[in-house]
Amino acid sequence: MIDVAAIRSQFPILQREIYGKPLIYLDNAATSQHPQCVIDRIAHSYCRVNANVHRGVHTLSQEATEAHENTRKKVQRYINARYSHEIIFTRGTTEAINLVAHSFGQAHLNDGDEVILTVMEHHSDIVPWQLLQQRKDIKLRVVPIDERGELNMEIFRSLFNEKTRLVCVMQASNVLGTINPIDEIIAYAHTHNVPVLVDGAQGIPHLSVDVQALDADFYVFSAHKVYGPTGIGVLYGKEKWLDSMPPYQGGGEMIAQVSFERTTFNELPYKFEAGTPDYVGSAAFATALDWVESVGLEAMQLHEEALLHYATTQLMTIDGIKIYGTAQRKTPVISFLVDNIHHYDMGMLLDKLGIAVRTGHHCAQPLMHALGIEGTVRASFAVYNTFEEIDAFIAAVKRVSNMLR
Ligand code: PLP
Repeated sequence: MIDVAAIRSQFPILQREIYGKPLIYLDNAATSQHPQCVIDRIAHSYCRVNANVHRGVHTLSQEATEAHENTRKKVQRYINARYSHEIIFTRGTTEAINLVAHSFGQAHLNDGDEVILTVMEHHSDIVPWQLLQQRKDIKLRVVPIDERGELNMEIFRSLFNEKTRLVCVMQASNVLGTINPIDEIIAYAHTHNVPVLVDGAQGIPHLSVDVQALDADFYVFSAHKVYGPTGIGVLYGKEKWLDSMPPYQGGGEMIAQVSFERTTFNELPYKFEAGTPDYVGSAAFATALDWVESVGLEAMQLHEEALLHYATTQLMTIDGIKIYGTAQRKTPVISFLVDNIHHYDMGMLLDKLGIAVRTGHHCAQPLMHALGIEGTVRASFAVYNTFEEIDAFIAAVKRVSNMLR
């Protein structure tokens, strides 16, 4: 059991009021809030440690470098990567996927090759592949979902052929909450010698991840969705793949020798980390992961699952409600619409009651198209949310629905 009141007291933003009402923050799938220790770590970096990393012999630079590299090792342990140099720091999930699309695409994809995606992918796992299509004549094959919002695994398996070069799949849907069977997907793809990129943006905040046990070839995520700072994320890649891929960006740090005649590149992970990294963010990122471990991921999961179950049951008592995504295994995310009430109207009026939810297409327009809608209202929970907040949320949805009907 976790002490939610004690956890909440560590999040200063949860003391805020919106329109005179206590903030009820249910937009955690977009970004989570930060415990005081993470905020303090950022302040500490600027107040006591700030210096550029990797380049200085002076104390500050060495301390900043040590903190930055310790985070790499922390992330390595957190997702159980074999080597710390398989952890590449990026700006987030989006940049990590762009990196793979660009570099893996350059090294391993040729005209006529095929990449398998799913219809529920976030735009950040669709558009980079479409950008690659401007350079290479590759084909995107798309796995559909069933009425519960689960992937059609039969069709997934049927999409493989001798031209399949990569599978890209989200671990959990930011819209439907569906937790995809990535272990099964990876195992099947590997029987065809096809590597798999897992978008872990919605997985890492809720699920324990072991990239070696999964045998994932690439696993990407953002710190800001797991109580960490914005501006930093991770590309995990198996050494053999990263070694085979050309650099993504050129600049400082990623080189071994530069001359106008010929430049050679640094080794992993620096080959993919051009320029000054977000070393203030990386230091606080480690603090966030330490914080999650101190609360306990399993205890968090139990609490979040209870919130999800309670909120789903209560929402279903509302006349005219439709919940999008009723998969057997879900992260604490609920997308819904009430009758023909527009999601923006619902979201704006909930805001007036102090409740922050997300509305719109959630960067998943192909999924919206498949569902035959333009958008949803989405409530997503984190460890600091309470059952009382859900009661207030349900009452507010009822009130707004009655007003707008
Ligand atoms: N993938 C999924 C499943 C997401 O939910 C998000 C963000 O909402 C992203 C990718 C993009 O993450 P970021 O904007 O942090 O790069």
